[in-house]
Amino acid sequence: MYTIAQFVKEYPTDDSCLEKLFNIQYSQLKGCPACAVENAQYKRIKTRRCYQCVECGHQLYPTAGTIFEKTTTPLRFWFYAMYMMVVTRNGVSAKEIERALGVTYKTAWRMAHKIREMMCNRPINKLKGDVMVDETALGGIERFRHKNKKKHVIGFSGKTVVIAMMEDKGKIIGLQISDKANQDEFGTVVSKFVDKSSVLITDGHGGYRKVGKEYSKHEIVSHEKNEYVNKNGYSTNAVENYWSMFKRMVKGTHIHISSKHLPKYLAENTFRYENRARPDEMFDIMLSQLSS
Ligand SMILES: [Zn+2]
Repeated sequence: MYTIAQFVKEYPTDDSCLEKLFNIQYSQLKGCPACAVENAQYKRIKTRRCYQCVECGHQLYPTAGTIFEKTTTPLRFWFYAMYMMVVTRNGVSAKEIERALGVTYKTAWRMAHKIREMMCNRPINKLKGDVMVDETALGGIERFRHKNKKKHVIGFSGKTVVIAMMEDKGKIIGLQISDKANQDEFGTVVSKFVDKSSVLITDGHGGYRKVGKEYSKHEIVSHEKNEYVNKNGYSTNAVENYWSMFKRMVKGTHIHISSKHLPKYLAENTFRYENRARPDEMFDIMLSQLSS
C-alpha cells in the first residue's frame, strides 16, 4: 500500500508536484527543443508553473495539455485528491474532497471529475484472447431475481444499460449502450471492441447469439440454468465482479450518478479494477496517464 506517510514525504509542496510533472512530461526530451543544445539545463521560474532553458530562455510548462493546465487550485491539493481516489476501495465523493482540502464543493466536484478523466486516459486496442462480455442495467426495478439472489436483468426498458468487455487478466472497456439495445446493437459494440480471433464468453443473453457466430469461439455460461462455469471451464465471474465493484462504488460513495457523467465513473471503476493487484503503483500509473 502507498501510505499517506510516503505520499506526504514525496509531495510536500507544490514545487515537488510540479517537478514530478516536469519529469513525466519531458523525460523523453534529449535536449532543448528550441536551441537544440544537448542535455540542456532547465531552471524553475518561481512565479509560474514553468521551467526555462538556461541556454536560450525557451520555456516549458509541465501542466500544459493536462487536467492541471488552467487550475488555480494548488497542485498539492490535486495530488492529495488523486491520492484519495487511488487508495480508497470504493472511490471518494466530492463531499469528502471538499472536507479534506477545505475547498468549495464546486471545486471538489470539478477536481474529482477531472481526475476521472485522467483515469481513462490510456490507449486501448481491440481486446483479444479470452474476452468476457457482460451487460447490466443500472437503476429501475430488477425484473428478475436469481434463486441465489444474484441480480440478472432480462429487460432493458427505462434503464441505463452498460456493457463491459474484459480480457482475461487484461484490459477492460466499460460503456453505456442504448436502453433499447437489441441484437444488432450488442453486435456493433462487441465487434467494434473485441478482435474476431477472440473467444467470446458471455451469459445466455440473446443479444450475443448473432455476433457470437463471428468469433473463433462463443462460450456461453447459462446463468439461467444455474451454471457458473460451463462444461469447457469458462466463466464470466471476473466481469461480474467488475459490475459488483461498480455498484458498490455507486451505492457506497455516490448514492446516485447521472447518466451524463456515467462514462467517467465507468472509467474510474475500470482504472481501479485493472490495477487492483498493484495498489503501490496506482498513483504513478495514474500520473503516467497525464496527457493523452
Ligand atoms: Zn534552449
